[in-house]
Amino acid sequence: MRILLVEDDEAIAQALVTTLKHQNHVVDVATDGLLGLELAEAFDYDLLLLDVMLPKLDGISLCRKLRTLSYQMPILLLTAKDSTEDKVKGLDAGADDYLVKPFDLPELTARIRALLRRGTAPLPPVLEWGALQLNPSNCDVTYNNQPVTLTPTEYRLLELFMRNSTRVYSRSAILDHLWSFDEPPSEDTIRAHIKGLRQKLKCSGAPADAIETVYGLGYRLKPQSEEKVVQTPRILMGGFSDELGFWLQQRLGDAVVRVTHTGEDTRTELSDRQWSLVILDQHLRHPGPAELLKHIGNKGQSAPPIPVIYCGVKGVDSYPRAPLGKGRKLPETRNSSTTQQQSETLDRVTSFLYHPLDAEKLAREVAKLLHLNLSDPQGSPKQDPTIVAAIGQVWERFKDRIADRVTAIEQATQALEDGELPQELHAKAKQEAHKLAGSLGTFGLTQGSVIAREVEQLLHNPTLNSSQSAHLAVLVQALRSQIDQAPIQSERRGGTPLNDLPLLLMIEGDQELSQQMGLEVKGWGMEVVNSDSIASARTAIADRRPDAVLLDLSAQDTLTINPNNKEEGLTLLSELANGFPPLPVLVVADQSRVEDRLEVARLGGRAFLQKPVRPAQIMEAVVQVLQGVQTTEAKIMVVDDDPQILSLVKHFLQPWGMKTITLSDSERFWETLEVSSPDLLILDIELPHLNGIELCQVVRNDPRWNSLPVLFLTAHTGPDIVHQVFAAGADDYISKPIVGPELVTRLLNRLERIHLLRNMAETDPLTGVANRRKSITEFDKFLHLCQLHGQPMCLAMLDLDRFKQVNDLHGHAMGDAVLRQFGKLLRNTFRSEDIVARWGGEEFVVGMYGINKESGTKRLSEVVQILHAEPFVIGEERLYLTFSGGVAQYPEDGKTVDTLYRCADQALYQAKTAGRDRIIAYNPSGEAMADYTPAS
Ligand code: GH3
Ligand code: MG
Ligand code: MG
Ligand code: MG
Repeated sequence: MRILLVEDDEAIAQALVTTLKHQNHVVDVATDGLLGLELAEAFDYDLLLLDVMLPKLDGISLCRKLRTLSYQMPILLLTAKDSTEDKVKGLDAGADDYLVKPFDLPELTARIRALLRRGTAPLPPVLEWGALQLNPSNCDVTYNNQPVTLTPTEYRLLELFMRNSTRVYSRSAILDHLWSFDEPPSEDTIRAHIKGLRQKLKCSGAPADAIETVYGLGYRLKPQSEEKVVQTPRILMGGFSDELGFWLQQRLGDAVVRVTHTGEDTRTELSDRQWSLVILDQHLRHPGPAELLKHIGNKGQSAPPIPVIYCGVKGVDSYPRAPLGKGRKLPETRNSSTTQQQSETLDRVTSFLYHPLDAEKLAREVAKLLHLNLSDPQGSPKQDPTIVAAIGQVWERFKDRIADRVTAIEQATQALEDGELPQELHAKAKQEAHKLAGSLGTFGLTQGSVIAREVEQLLHNPTLNSSQSAHLAVLVQALRSQIDQAPIQSERRGGTPLNDLPLLLMIEGDQELSQQMGLEVKGWGMEVVNSDSIASARTAIADRRPDAVLLDLSAQDTLTINPNNKEEGLTLLSELANGFPPLPVLVVADQSRVEDRLEVARLGGRAFLQKPVRPAQIMEAVVQVLQGVQTTEAKIMVVDDDPQILSLVKHFLQPWGMKTITLSDSERFWETLEVSSPDLLILDIELPHLNGIELCQVVRNDPRWNSLPVLFLTAHTGPDIVHQVFAAGADDYISKPIVGPELVTRLLNRLERIHLLRNMAETDPLTGVANRRKSITEFDKFLHLCQLHGQPMCLAMLDLDRFKQVNDLHGHAMGDAVLRQFGKLLRNTFRSEDIVARWGGEEFVVGMYGINKESGTKRLSEVVQILHAEPFVIGEERLYLTFSGGVAQYPEDGKTVDTLYRCADQALYQAKTAGRDRIIAYNPSGEAMADYTPAS
């Protein structure tokens, strides 16, 4: 592969080049950003590695620049600053990944491999995987030249896997690739299709595991075993928690980890597949560990034996028991006599570990036996220090409550030892253990979670025998010492502050205003940075991306005495407003000509303020704009009765620009849902009052919310619960304890997909404004809010006047261009919370919440005036066009979209017959029509 490295530090560059060449890559080095840009544009690289601090053009700007030039190839940023802000900035600028310096070379190369895998290599016309062939031109599938008959869905699945034979597809990724957005099946269905496909492949003679399940991630085509390719190690964990399995998977990077919970499932897995290593727990039954050990066979005689790790309780039958005759109870007492049979089974075990299980020790043991490298202890994606610090803070806040939970369990244990465990105390202890299992791991106490889970499982027995209570006592003691050790995180506090104040960049030459603003801004909980020229503003933006920009375009005195300043200012405005992600820009000017306003609006300015203007007025506008921006950000509503979980989720999501609305009381669910109107909902299962599954069902039954994505966050991972969750209409579930990177990744994937689908389903392709379908849903939401808060709302129908003539005289292409510009004008003129949609043809609809008919009509009349002043400029042509509008108001004229539409349309008709080029408010009496259009 060909890689471009842009790095000014020679030593680092040299080290990287050596490493990359060693991996058979071709590397070009650029020592500054501009050279990097030139090279990237001139040659076809498979991947770019960009340093951030670079001479001439910094890495983040270079990245952004390339992305605005539609540069497609993967970009990896090498950032020296270990701050979330930089990373977010980098990712926002379009980077695919980042790595913090000083970096670990193996990690770097691993990430490069991951990025390169995504690049699309040209594929042969007939796709092949061993003896399996798929011909996309005629959809024939054969194995060993024998036809394989598949259903269309199975075929598409197989094609997807074969086209990207190394990629793992999550169920939602499969959904994205194979189903249209209006009829997506449930993820359960995908599971069924995969099963069908596997079965047919197996019948045709293909390996049973041709399509592999990658634990916690999804499915992929099994990597082909070439001599030189090292097989991914496969580890079976019989009798352990899913959390431990997931954690181990993370620690081991490339290994596949499978967890089974019962003896029977473990046996099935052992006979179905070849494993690289097996871990068995003493508690497995029917069959127990001794019997299971017999199933661990080697397929080939010459192959080395499969290593086995056995986990038992020290002193309490700490070896695998021999199977006993039917009907005989297992001995509960200590039994140290080792029979012949036992010693045989014992011989089969490679190493022993004892409960309470030290997860770290287990990982080390596995790594040793399989000759693997362990990744970062906190899960493979590096823990972000900001998140670590945040978790530390959360821990500080909650550690007492957590200690209380352990106390409750200790009390239960004590009571048990004293001979009598009251039912209430038993239930409480069980509940607390469940909560601890769900939360400790998140604080870095993975082992704590594992122990708590074990405690919970033990407490599920209605009565405990002596050996079980002894085991419980050991576990509880271990749990207490886990808590007392307190997580490391709290000591490592003090990354960058979490609550960075929003930053306003002022490009302002007026000293006095700058000073006044400096004082004003503080009162609004924001920070301000000043630039007195466009050039210095660019540097400031590259240095730290502001949340909003205030640009002074006054003709005299301001900025430097450069006549080109206005031009330059407008260029910057357009760059910022149309960049990705867009940066909101507010403009201040000393005179307000309609042309200026229009120009600013056309270029994407978010507000236009005319001097003299008071600092408070400016700040009002800034805050309004910022709130508008926030509504376009993802809003996530989380419902969980555990405040720790709520805090954590919030802290995880904050650095990613997601807004979190937390709710611990499910009784206030609807109210909060309506008011916050989230983009995604996260639900806990166990909640007082209505449980999460019930909530999900109600959400799905409401037409306004049935497409809202719902994710479950749960400590339950049993198949029954998972099935229930999907049956209730959930889109995904994430198991507790929350692993930060996993949560974020899943949410981002989900949101990205929603965003894409929404755009496709809800946007009018010609004008880019919402389509009618979308506007109706929006109106329904508005109407509901109006009813809730006793607010008015306007619905206006707009229709271009004599539009047919444009088509007739200038052609349809010109007509289309006019529609596009008109859409843009409306979008720019109205607030971001207003509804602007194309109803059909040359008709548009506008919805204004909280605004009565009179003000609504006035605002529309202003748009009428803009069109008087400004023609549509299309190529060489200048077209003066007008439009007419009719306005109706909730609740007076109607209470549904339909009745409001009819009233508005009637008023529109009157505007047309009265001579067009005007806005008329609907008047129920039908006679004296209020016409707010100023005589023109
Ligand atoms: P009035 O002032 O009465 O509204 O006159 P009008 O000519 O605007 O109204 P009429 O309903 O007679 O014609 C609407 C025209 O809009 C006819 C149709 O060709 C044109 N039109 C509808 N959709 C599109 C489109 O997507 N692109 C183009 N170029 N024209 C369209
Ligand atoms: Mg709960
Ligand atoms: Mg018309
Ligand atoms: Mg029409």
